[in-house]
Amino acid sequence: MTGHAIVIGGGIGGLAAAVALRRIGWQVEVLERVHAFGEVGAGLSQSPNAMRALAELGLAEQAEAASMPTWATHAMRLPSGRHLMHAPTGQNPPLRAFRRAALHRLLRQALPQDVVHTGVEVTGLAQDSEKVTVTHTAGRQDADLVVGADGIHSLTRRLLWPQAPGPRFLGYTAWVGLAGTSLPVRGSMTLGRGCYFLIHPVAPGQVYWALGSAADQSGVRFDDELEQVRRRVAGWHDPIPALLQATPPEQVRHLDIHDLPDLPAYASGRIALLGDAAHAMSPDRGQGAGQSIEDAVVLAAALADNTPVPAALAAYDAQRRPRTQATARNARQAGLQVINAGSTAHALIALALRLTPSTLWARLAPRTLGPLWDWTPPTLPTMPDALPHG
Ligand SMILES: Cc1cc2nc3c(=O)[nH]c(=O)nc-3n(C[C@H](O)[C@H](O)[C@H](O)COP(=O)(O)OP(=O)(O)OC[C@H]3O[C@@H](n4cnc5c(N)ncnc54)[C@H](O)[C@@H]3O)c2cc1C
Repeated sequence: MTGHAIVIGGGIGGLAAAVALRRIGWQVEVLERVHAFGEVGAGLSQSPNAMRALAELGLAEQAEAASMPTWATHAMRLPSGRHLMHAPTGQNPPLRAFRRAALHRLLRQALPQDVVHTGVEVTGLAQDSEKVTVTHTAGRQDADLVVGADGIHSLTRRLLWPQAPGPRFLGYTAWVGLAGTSLPVRGSMTLGRGCYFLIHPVAPGQVYWALGSAADQSGVRFDDELEQVRRRVAGWHDPIPALLQATPPEQVRHLDIHDLPDLPAYASGRIALLGDAAHAMSPDRGQGAGQSIEDAVVLAAALADNTPVPAALAAYDAQRRPRTQATARNARQAGLQVINAGSTAHALIALALRLTPSTLWARLAPRTLGPLWDWTPPTLPTMPDALPHG
């Protein structure tokens, strides 16, 4: 069956859900509480699984054009600049890096303009066996399906599972920024003690960077966030100082890292959770947004063959919960390994990486990353009048 869906939240997950549902012939509205999107965030990388999901949404070319190929954990260094691992030569980098706003924009452009309603905040939900009633700041509407893509602090989740624990602080904090520079920069990751510095070129003349660092508590903010980053990586290798020099202070964002304890379900009746609302995860495998795009494709595939909505959402839950919760665990462990490493552990990690030849690493990495990256999306039927716009 097709019907009318309301998606709560116009982040990457919500927009991907809207594109996916339109592809199978649903009428969709996205309700987003912010009044204008502007230049959201700095950058992010997408791994092959996420790129395949974007391709299934009909956005392969747009995604390729909006991103740059990049290395990360295959090209590791110490703060001194010493290489722990070189990116393998003669191979294509496995990741694509985007300005976050560019990925968001390409999803928005895949939707007709009247699909996304900004400045509308959802305040309540009620459902019976026939419909869901959504209450929001512009009124009230009925829908056959509601997708809660309203982020880590999701109202949808709190209404459906009021007893479920909320986001948990993982003991570290991150600064992200965008440098405008013509320096030829390749993706890399530098491992400090209790911190790391990540670099991704995201567009010609633009480089995304992120500093992750151990923190005792969340919510600590500074008058000059860029200066905090400079202080923490003082003396680190090139091009880190040049990137910070080329970063406008207003481009720097400081975020505390949280994830979400496992939920018992991602769906109830005609309401589904998607993206960070369901499985916010630490950024350490670069998977949060990618998993939300996967969610969108799987959700649409479950609904595509005329399955009644509650049964389709149960199938969506059964497919997505094990994968996303395992991914979140994997990401948490990877992050904490670096962030919590004392000096001995840091030295041992560095030694092990330095002694592992890149060719061996290229064979070992798929064991960790393979289950994340090898995912293949289900095939969506294409409705002739629901192809992406723009
Ligand atoms: C430092 C950092 C680095 C990261 N790096 C990567 C990376 O490299 N690769 C990757 O894949 N992921 C990465 N992530 C994760 C990624 O950013 C998130 O997983 C992703 O953005 C989640 O998208 P979402 O649409 O689920 O939620 P959000 O982006 O949070 O969107 C939710 C939207 O819902 C809206 N909303 C909330 N409540 C309401 C309401 N009641 N009514 C209406 N609208 C509402 C909000 O305004 C918001 O626009 C990173 C995260 C961090 C913190």
